[in-house]
Amino acid sequence: MKSDIQIAQEATMKPIASIAEQLNLSTKDWEPYGHYKAKLSYSLMEDLEEKPDGKVVLVTAINPTPAGEGKSTVTVGLGQAMNQIQKQTIIALREPSLGPTMGIKGGAAGGGYSQVLPMEDINLHFTGDIHAITTANNALSAFIDNHIHQSNELNIDARKVGWKRVVDLNDRALREVIVGLGGPKRGVPREDGFNITVASEIMAILCLASSLDDLKKRLSEIVFGYTYDDQPVTVRELKMEGALTLLLKDALKPNLVQTMEHTPAIIHGGPFANIAHGCNSVMATNYARKLGEYVITEAGFGADLGAEKFLNIKTRAGGFEPDAVVLVATARALKMHGGVPKGDLKLENVEALKAGIANLKKHMETLESFGLPYVIAINRFETDSEAELQFIEEWCKQQGASVALTEVWAKGGQGGIDLAYKVVDAIDKGKTSFRHTYELTDSLETKITKVATVIYGARNVEFSSKAKQQLQQYAENGWGDLPVCMAKTPASLSDDPTKYGRPTDFTITVRELSASVGAGFIVALTGDVLTMPGLPKSPAALNMDVGENGEALGLF
Ligand code: ADP
Repeated sequence: MKSDIQIAQEATMKPIASIAEQLNLSTKDWEPYGHYKAKLSYSLMEDLEEKPDGKVVLVTAINPTPAGEGKSTVTVGLGQAMNQIQKQTIIALREPSLGPTMGIKGGAAGGGYSQVLPMEDINLHFTGDIHAITTANNALSAFIDNHIHQSNELNIDARKVGWKRVVDLNDRALREVIVGLGGPKRGVPREDGFNITVASEIMAILCLASSLDDLKKRLSEIVFGYTYDDQPVTVRELKMEGALTLLLKDALKPNLVQTMEHTPAIIHGGPFANIAHGCNSVMATNYARKLGEYVITEAGFGADLGAEKFLNIKTRAGGFEPDAVVLVATARALKMHGGVPKGDLKLENVEALKAGIANLKKHMETLESFGLPYVIAINRFETDSEAELQFIEEWCKQQGASVALTEVWAKGGQGGIDLAYKVVDAIDKGKTSFRHTYELTDSLETKITKVATVIYGARNVEFSSKAKQQLQQYAENGWGDLPVCMAKTPASLSDDPTKYGRPTDFTITVRELSASVGAGFIVALTGDVLTMPGLPKSPAALNMDVGENGEALGLF
């Protein structure tokens, strides 16, 4: 079997100018970044203001196995299939981080015959956006430490600076560090630490900003620490928002590339899906809505995390409503939910499927709670047996749900034609009565409780004494009207990663809150969430190399 990179390198790309032409763009609408990548200009959005918006289709999934269930692959494949049935469609996706790429998970540019290209660039440095975010984040760190060193007019308590430095790698040794060592001339010593860049609040801000002005406003509102008398200190008080916006002025422009079948794809931003909202940028989605009749986009992890945040956070920031959802399910993940150990997921086990399908059922109910029409996409793997696939399909039909067996990994767009027709059908006849899970005017406690009970199926929520104190403090700081961003394990509907299937009668424990005021949400942390992952014993990077002509080798 060919690897993703072999398939990608055998594909022929069109020059990016020809993809831009396909979208009726003139030269002022885009800037080339090499032969196969481009950035879309700010003026393009103004020029397209009057154009009607395309329909938005969100791709989400059941609770995934650690390998992922193929959301990106189905997103790319569905986009290709939609174009094959003459529906002018654009794909909007997240940009991969180097941490998981070099570490364990592998790339995030789709897979098989449904990939975005050039996959090597997309998985490595791409157009430099993540580097710009790293620089902006660390510039803020440098200015905070400089301010404290230079007489500290803002009265910042060095022990209460929550802002961390970042690097876009998995590097556990940097989780906790002490900066400012070496005597009075070297600064004021304080405890600091590193996060992976995609966990930076600046990444979340870049992905929720709807314009350059909005980016600057959100950056100015970042609360990076507290004074000695516990007052929040913002970037605006440090007068840094102009410089940070300048560092990000090109990174905010969405990136245009193509799929293996030359479907236009906008790849932009990649925030974590736990302490952030896990979707590509609002700019990318909004440009895609103006440029396409249909937009296919995705959100990280399962529908309990990614879709919930897409629907409750991103739609509010982006000012749009989705038209339909694709819910990806795989036999292997359903078997995991039915109790099969990870090593045996390739073996046929219809009984386990019968038990595990309760997980799919919960996510269907979740999408129904949002009032959205949906289609279940069974992402077919080579190891799935006919009996297993038949069982899932029959079960979906019995539930009255629209379902399509999807073979986009093996066959490209051709493997997603049935799914494409069903998505169009769902949009055409599904009456969307989209509603959020909570109102912004609900208290933070109510918002968290509604997500936990309606989306996860929890009985109740318990707040630690620290979280209770923070709830009160945040309301007093005027942050009570922000949406909540839940940080929870993706493996389970509950906050216990060992509870597969559809757990019932469980409690969600909120350990701590954290305020991403610039991004515009309050993070509720359940369980332990790593914002700087570590590397495994044999990282994916050990297989990587460069060929004689500089071509990437071993990138999956
Ligand atoms: P997600 O977006 O849900 O994390 P991806 O689409 O990134 O998942 O897929 C994860 C990995 O699984 C990729 O390496 C991809 O090539 C592979 N994959 C996805 N679907 C299939 C399939 N049907 N058959 C084989 N491999 C697949």
